[in-house]
Amino acid sequence: MSNENKSQQIIYPPVVAVLGHVDHGKTSLLDAIRSTSIAERESGGITQKIGASSVEIMHDDKPRTITFIDTPGHQAFSQMRSRGAIASDIGLLIVSSTDGVMPQTRESIEALKASKIPIIVVLTKADLPTKNIEKAKGQILREGIMLEGMGGDVPVMEVSAKTKSNVKELLDLILLVQELHASNTTEKVSSTHPMKAIVIESRLDQKAGPRATLIIKDGTLKVREPVFIDGSSFKVRSVMDTEGKMLSVATIGQAVEVLGFLKVPSVGSLMTSEPTVQEAELPLSKESVYSPVANQEELPIILAADSQGSLEAITNAFPEKVHVLEQKTGEITEGDVLHAKSTGSLLIGFNTKLRPDVVKLARTEKVLMKNYTIIYELLDEIADVLEGKRLAGIEEIYGTAKILAQFPFEKTVVLGVSVTDGRVARGDKIRVMRGDNVIGESQITSLRVGKEPTSKVEKGHEAGIVISPMLDFEVGDMLLSHE
Ligand code: GDP
Repeated sequence: MSNENKSQQIIYPPVVAVLGHVDHGKTSLLDAIRSTSIAERESGGITQKIGASSVEIMHDDKPRTITFIDTPGHQAFSQMRSRGAIASDIGLLIVSSTDGVMPQTRESIEALKASKIPIIVVLTKADLPTKNIEKAKGQILREGIMLEGMGGDVPVMEVSAKTKSNVKELLDLILLVQELHASNTTEKVSSTHPMKAIVIESRLDQKAGPRATLIIKDGTLKVREPVFIDGSSFKVRSVMDTEGKMLSVATIGQAVEVLGFLKVPSVGSLMTSEPTVQEAELPLSKESVYSPVANQEELPIILAADSQGSLEAITNAFPEKVHVLEQKTGEITEGDVLHAKSTGSLLIGFNTKLRPDVVKLARTEKVLMKNYTIIYELLDEIADVLEGKRLAGIEEIYGTAKILAQFPFEKTVVLGVSVTDGRVARGDKIRVMRGDNVIGESQITSLRVGKEPTSKVEKGHEAGIVISPMLDFEVGDMLLSHE
């Protein structure tokens, strides 16, 4: 770099996450902050288009920008962290000065501590006569947040979203904290570095396809240039800023909405301008998948089952030491894997689906995940785990195929299938699924493409399959080939 000049160091906008208990005033504070922005006064109101907002203020007589992540509560925040993605530079811990520390305050504190980013404690609703600042501070201190003026150095500020008292001061404090920590000055990041951005929100738009909001952490994002995410690559179709303006480039500290993804990316995914090691999919040894759970006082479990009835039957039969952190009906999702990861839980499915991308995530995150179809097997293994053994392993899905037709053949029936993901092979164990319901388990005894016997058929091809034992399948059912 020829033009290096320390005095002209660029300070990029800090990215701020807002965490706290529900109803403690996160939304009101963000609204109050947005109405303090100079940009709003000039343009007559920011219409908020994406899950983040940029606020422009005068600080030391210079215009400065702060990016707020609006959506992530502490759970989304933990999800990102468990994928190693720290999208924010600073965390605001919102605590109502009337209510003090509540359960989600504690969860937020845990998430913030683990992320190691600087924290600012914001005591909200300071206009209310029922506030009890000292009590709230004492409670926060007891959670291990060492507050300024109480022996620590974590800044704390009393604000009111209603009267706007201290809102501007809070924004100045955020910029001050950023300067102190220098977390995203030119010394570490630069618009000329390779681009890195983190997904903070994503969804499927019926018209525009997959869309995601990302925070750019390094480099410059450019429209029409190729990027890499979750092991695949695409060309950025459009980039929109927090005010809904189309951009051709965006850089560090900016929140943008991007179109062009091949599929909806997961929250916490890293998008880069160059393929990264992470994307190169490191083969994990089988052993590394297992986390030792021996000698634990309690065994935390996240449970997903096909029905409410199954959930009840299973949880009622669990030994005392099992602590069910979460139970639900339906399939296991990436969110469940991340929840299991951040809580050190086993992830147990009963008659549910293990999608290949979820299995992959569980492997990368080293989360122990297993699906059962028989309750006593599940209970036996849980008992073994409590005795200090490890679970026999994570189930791998090799591929999925859709049943398109059936033909009688000799004394049996041939299933005409189309392989929709991965591959199916002769000898594979298969599970027949109808929607989320498991119809049964069987095995592939014969596999043909046309009339030719074959050992393996890959995604995108059709095949004729004979399974044994025969199951009560229907056209349209899915076959899951698994370990
Ligand atoms: P969130 O769930 O954390 O986003 O909380 P909200 O911002 O929705 O606030 C919850 C409730 O507290 C609402 O009824 C707000 O009007 C009220 N509230 C939030 N901030 C203040 C404040 O500074 N002063 C007063 N008096 N009420 C507030």
